[in-house]
Amino acid sequence: MAETLTTGTCVHHWVLAHPEDEVIRGRCKRCGATREYPASVEGASRQGVYEEAASLKSSMSR
Ligand SMILES: [Zn+2]
Repeated sequence: MAETLTTGTCVHHWVLAHPEDEVIRGRCKRCGATREYPASVEGASRQGVYEEAASLKSSMSR
């Protein structure tokens, strides 16, 4: 395994940007992977990431 961490093995540490266009962009501090979280509860529950997004939001709120 000469490869550095990939999205498959990394326990991501998401760093979230400010919400834009109903989307919160997250970037993994460790491996650089990116993903998008829906900024609204509706969108989040539809994508099944509401709990994850909610915990991330609370961790970055004020
Ligand atoms: Zn990662």
